[in-house]
Formats: sequence, structure tokens, C-alpha cells
Amino acid sequence: MSTNPTPSGQTVGAFDVAVVGAGPAGLAAAAAAADRGKTVVLVDAGAQIGGQYWRHPDERAPRGPEAEGHHDWKLFTELREKLRRHRQMGAVVLLPNAQVWFVEPTAPADADDREGGWTLHLTPTIVGVDTAEATPRLVVAARLILCPGGYDRQLPVPGWDLPGVMAAGGVQALLKGHRTLAGQRAVVAGTGPFLLPVAKQLADAGATVVAVCEANALTGWARHARAVAAVPAKVAEGAEYALALARHRIPYRTRTAVTRIDADPTGTKAVQLAQLDAAGRVVGPTTTVDVDLVALGWGFTPSMELITAVGAQTRIDVDQSLVAVVDNSQRSTTPGVYVAGEATGVGGALLAVAEGELAGIAAADALEVHAMRIRRLRARIQRLRVFAAAMHQAHPVPARWHEWLTPDTTICRCEEVSFDSVCRARDELGATDVRTVKLMARPGMGWCQGHVCGFATAKLAAAAEDRPLTVEDLRPLAKQTLCAPIALELLAQVTSKSTDEAL
Ligand SMILES: Cc1cc2nc3c(=O)[nH]c(=O)nc-3n(C[C@H](O)[C@H](O)[C@H](O)COP(=O)(O)OP(=O)(O)OC[C@H]3O[C@@H](n4cnc5c(N)ncnc54)[C@H](O)[C@@H]3O)c2cc1C
Repeated sequence: MSTNPTPSGQTVGAFDVAVVGAGPAGLAAAAAAADRGKTVVLVDAGAQIGGQYWRHPDERAPRGPEAEGHHDWKLFTELREKLRRHRQMGAVVLLPNAQVWFVEPTAPADADDREGGWTLHLTPTIVGVDTAEATPRLVVAARLILCPGGYDRQLPVPGWDLPGVMAAGGVQALLKGHRTLAGQRAVVAGTGPFLLPVAKQLADAGATVVAVCEANALTGWARHARAVAAVPAKVAEGAEYALALARHRIPYRTRTAVTRIDADPTGTKAVQLAQLDAAGRVVGPTTTVDVDLVALGWGFTPSMELITAVGAQTRIDVDQSLVAVVDNSQRSTTPGVYVAGEATGVGGALLAVAEGELAGIAAADALEVHAMRIRRLRARIQRLRVFAAAMHQAHPVPARWHEWLTPDTTICRCEEVSFDSVCRARDELGATDVRTVKLMARPGMGWCQGHVCGFATAKLAAAAEDRPLTVEDLRPLAKQTLCAPIALELLAQVTSKSTDEAL
């Protein structure tokens, strides 16, 4: 394929394959495609590779052993080494600190050839960072593998916007990336196994964790004994965390949630812990603990902007996340676009690696050549997917969570939209679907474009109608023409026909 250089010469390509995201899925995808002789460009918004799972301190100025606090680190170093060799040979170009803000077909929209390749529009994640090479504006490739991962799913509660109340993933990112403790006395709350590593890592780093509050009962796992037995590594990991909690004397309270957070002027937080029933209604007595850090985690939300930008079909997963529809070779419904990792369903790093490798082999047109490997990968993906589904069913978001809210609870932090405003949009202005709620009350209209409040807003719209969440609730807040905030200068420089039309 031919490149389409801009007058300023800031296009790089043409590559056989562009991979977006250098987390577990993207690393495996890039390595697999390069192993099969393809030229690959690997783009990531982060300063170094690893994604969320293998987030680690700055490699140029290490503080302590890199592997500290990590699982599957050997797998990461093998992938890193493989990519280093491919980069040396010129088969892989790595573009860190580069955010994809727009993606479009390289061929004109009316061309017959729907596999005409893809153009990625990039912007530096941090302007002025000490990167040696400037970030190119455009990258062109024949095939696209999207591995954008996900981020913490948040549920608003009164006081969740106070200083010292953080997403559990953010607390962990500070520890993994910077060896920094976000507080000294913490409560970790929400649902799912992810609360365990966060509590352990906080305690290992010297914090006092006064409680881990799991909103669900662990009996939810009982129905999934076979799914659990099929992945013994997960059982071992769970046991490791249980031992760590016991060693640090951290209480693990099930059917318990943080339902309110208050702060005094010194910053200390009085955190209300409430006993829940199976639907998430507050039923028991509440207790209050004083902490300076609250880490809240309600699972993860896949990053869907790029998937919706290429027009790929989406569906709703077991955990109520919007995810990409893919076939058993990771092909999305858009020709030439493959998706791997959390964006096909939240399922953990090892699943992401397996899907990434499969996508890399498929994008390199090498499925038949590696039939045996493909069979193994598909079987592994199937096992890990079944485990992920069990995990989601055992740790659902409490159905009646919205009953913990007060009228003045902030739902959208960017636009400062209260729960009361969302209710009034529904009751007084007839906003019964998420798109209308957004138009009338403005949740999801601000800087983050619904990244933080999107899931909660969609849940509120569905709960008001007393119906389950659907794709139609989630897609309007995930679909964004611009996938990242950018400078107006960049928009002014966009000249292609399809881009103009899309904007
Ligand atoms: C905050 C957080 C903490 C986690 N901690 C744990 C843990 O302790 N244990 C555990 O088992 N699992 C953990 N997980 C889950 C685990 O990280 C994932 O299962 C795994 O990383 C998925 O791999 P991935 O490649 O799909 O995505 P990720 O690892 O999320 O990688 C996605 C990459 O894509 C990049 N990206 C996204 N959009 C763009 C764009 N537009 N332009 C350029 N680059 C882009 C991101 O910078 C990122 O590096 C965590 C997840 C999160 C979100």
C-alpha cells in the first residue's frame, strides 16, 4: 500500500500492521505479527510499554527492582526483549507517549476496497516531555489491531469527589509506577478480586488498611467450581492474597460497601460502611471508620472510543460493559480491524496476551500455517473467558446502588451534575434515555466526555425505567468522534475529506 504524506512530512508508514496499546494484548499482538515477517508500528499513550498490568517505574531511573509487586513479570520481559530485537532489525517501530485521537480509513470512504488500510491521527500525550523523537501526526497501516484496554469503573457515592478518595486503580498506579503511597490509613471498597492486590500492595508499602469491603457475598463463586478449577493459577493467586491479608491483619468484610464519605477540614475522612442485602440495599447497621485514603473499585470499563470510531459492532458483556464483537480470530465486524484484550471483555492480562497473539497471527494472514498454535490459543481463551464470566457473575455491581445516593451527590465531576439534576431531567423534562439525560442535565458533556460518569449515568437511566442496561444505554457515551482532548490547532491541520465529513 502507498503512504499519504502530509506537506509537513509528518506521516510514518506504510506499515503492514498498526497496533494501538502496548499493554499485555498489544505487546503480544505486535510480537506475533513481527515474528511472522510483518512491519509493525506500536503506539501507546504511555511513556513506556506494559499497559496497566505491567505498569512499572521509569526504566531510565529505576527505584528498586522492576519486578516488585508484579505477577507474570517473566512473560513481560520476554515480550519486551522480543520487541527490542524486532526494533533493532527495523521490523517494529515503537511510538510511546502518542495518543491516537482519530482513526479513519486511508482509502476514500466510497472506494470499493474496504481493506484499503487505516490512518491513525496522533497527538503527544504530554507536550514537552523529554522524548527523543517527536510524535508523528499520522501513521498509516494496512491492518489495525486495537488493544486500548480499560480503566476503573466508578460508582458515585456521597463524598466520592473529596480529596483522598481515589479509584483503586489510581492508588495502585501510584504504587506500581512511582512507588508512592496515596495515604497512610486506608479503606479499600467496591467489588471483585482487584480489591485484594490493591489492599496487599498498600499494606506492603507501609499503609494501614482498616478494611477491605466487598459488596457481594463470596458464595456467588460456589456455582462456578468447574470454571475456577480450569485455571489453577487464579486459585493460587487468590490464596496468595488471602494469606497476605491475614498476615497484615486486614479485615475482609463481605456484603459491605462505603455508602458515604465525609471530611473534616484537616482532610481526615469519616467513611460510612454499610451492610447490604443481595441486591445492594442497605439493611444492617452502619459503622464509621476514620481514614485518609479511600480506594474505590467496581471492576473495569473497556476503552471503546477507537472501536466505535472504526464503526465496529459492540455488545454488552456479562459485567454490563460495552465490548467489541469479535470472531474466533479476534476480527471485529469492520474489515481489516482486529480487537484484543479488555476491549473484547474484561478478563485479565493472561487472556489479553492470548487474544493479542491470536490477533497478531490473524492480522499477519498466518492462521493456517500455525494451526496447532491457534487451536491451543483458542482453547486457552475459552477457558479464561469462562473464568472471567464466573468472576463477573460472582461480583456484580449492586443493582440498588443508586439508593445510596443523596440529591446533592455529584454524578458528573467535570460538569458538576448532581443526582438531583439527573432525576429532574427524567421527572420534569421527560429524559428517559441516556442521550436525552446527557442533553438535559449535561452529565458526560465535560472534559472526560463520560469516561468517569458514563457507566453510572447509563445505569441511572436504566434503573429509572426499572430495566436492565442495554447497548443503547452505553454506546452513546462511548462513541466519540475525537478519542482524546486535542488542541484546536490539530483540528485546523486536518485536511482529509473523510475527516472533515466526520467532524
Ligand atoms: C488501573 C488498573 C489496574 C489494574 N491492576 C491489575 C492487577 O493488579 N492485577 C490484575 O490481574 N489485573 C489488573 N488490571 C487488569 C489488567 O491490567 C488488564 O487485564 C490487562 O492489563 C489488560 O491488558 P490490555 O492490553 O487489554 O490493556 P491495558 O493493559 O490497559 O493496555 C492498554 C494500553 O492502551 C493504551 N491506549 C489506550 N487508548 C489509547 C489511545 N487512544 N492511543 C494510544 N494508546 C492508547 C494505554 O495507554 C495502555 O497502555 C488492572 C487494570 C486497570 C485499568
